[in-house]
Amino acid sequence: MICPVCGGRQTGKVGVEQYYCWDCFIEFNSHTDQVVVFDLEEDGTLVAWEDFFLESEQIVQAQAAAE
Ligand SMILES: [Zn+2]
Repeated sequence: MICPVCGGRQTGKVGVEQYYCWDCFIEFNSHTDQVVVFDLEEDGTLVAWEDFFLESEQIVQAQAAAE
C-alpha cells in the first residue's frame, strides 16, 4: 500500500483496511471510495485530517495507476 501523504511504500498493515506510514508517522485507511488520514496521538488516539478529503479522489487514482 502506498502512503497517500508522502507517496512512499514504507507502510505496514495495522488492522482491517488500516495502514501505518513509517515515514509520516500517520495512519490511513484504504476504503476504495475515499482515503482518510489520521494523526496518531501519544495516547493512541487517532485524529482524522478533516481537510484531506479534498484530494482523496486524486490519491485513489494515483494508487490505481501505480499498482
Ligand atoms: Zn507517508
